[in-house]
Amino acid sequence: MRRKSFSASLFTPHPSLFTGCAYCILPRVADHYDMQEILSRVKAAFIGLAVGDALGAPVEFLTAHEIKAKYGRLEEIVGGGWLRLKAGQVTDDTEMSLCVARAIVAAGGWDLQGIAGRFAAWLKTKPIDVGDTCRKGIRNYMLKGELETPFNQWDAGNGAVMRLLPVALFTMGDDALLEKYAVAQAHLTHNHPLSDAACVYFGRLVHLAVLGFSKARMRRELEGLITEYPNFRFDPYRGLSTGYVVDTMQTVFHYFFKARDFEECLVGTVNQGGDADTTGAIAGALAGAYYGMENIPKRWIRKMDRKVMEDVVTLAERLITMSPTGMKGR
Ligand code: MN
Ligand code: MN
Repeated sequence: MRRKSFSASLFTPHPSLFTGCAYCILPRVADHYDMQEILSRVKAAFIGLAVGDALGAPVEFLTAHEIKAKYGRLEEIVGGGWLRLKAGQVTDDTEMSLCVARAIVAAGGWDLQGIAGRFAAWLKTKPIDVGDTCRKGIRNYMLKGELETPFNQWDAGNGAVMRLLPVALFTMGDDALLEKYAVAQAHLTHNHPLSDAACVYFGRLVHLAVLGFSKARMRRELEGLITEYPNFRFDPYRGLSTGYVVDTMQTVFHYFFKARDFEECLVGTVNQGGDADTTGAIAGALAGAYYGMENIPKRWIRKMDRKVMEDVVTLAERLITMSPTGMKGR
């Protein structure tokens, strides 16, 4: 798909409560945009998340050298890995994102309690993979009913940002709403300023990508993040791709801005190793939002669980329909 760029005059800057971000979308946005193109990017974002998870999971916790020795360059969805996955099987990154999306859609609006309830129900199914911080936060909710985990200096993992996409879709067109809900959903399990900042800025990048803005504009957006938290600077890239949210986001940003298409972005990201399913999922959501459905390799989609693909498409459409953009689904 050729990306169309949209006239900047459709957007009026507004002072944001959070650092530096200055965009808002006119209420009549739905009249101005190519709906089909936006819907394609919204669906591709959620499919991209699942595809990145399934592509990266088999090499989770391997180093780039170990991946090279074993696969050369990993370019296919192969399954296996420490979780002994079927090819195309997704993990907690996609499953928790589905919990968030389903809770919002089921409630017909924002429902933090509903999200926490679905996380708890999911944890009871004994999922194959759960991050320690996520488990602790969900247990905190189950035992005490608390919707906010206390600040913890060790909570700067990537577990909140990996499941943020549904919040970004649901708040499309309203930056203040994104910020509020992104932080609220993050604090169910992760209460740390670096995680919060990653969530808000990842959401902003998804908004810009879905609405058709350029990579140059997206990169400019990140200057706000880097000014506030220089840790997130990703140029020069340090090559770290652990579950620490700073390493994770540096990896995603590096490969997203460097690559020319969805496949190049995802292959680069997961071959870096480390928390590869999670960097893959976040990069997949962002690259999907930017490039749209036609740019996601069909051979990867064919490997995926069909039910998961149907669910993410339906949920993505529902979320954008509920968003402040006032877009209609199919
Ligand atoms: Mn995972
Ligand atoms: Mn992971």
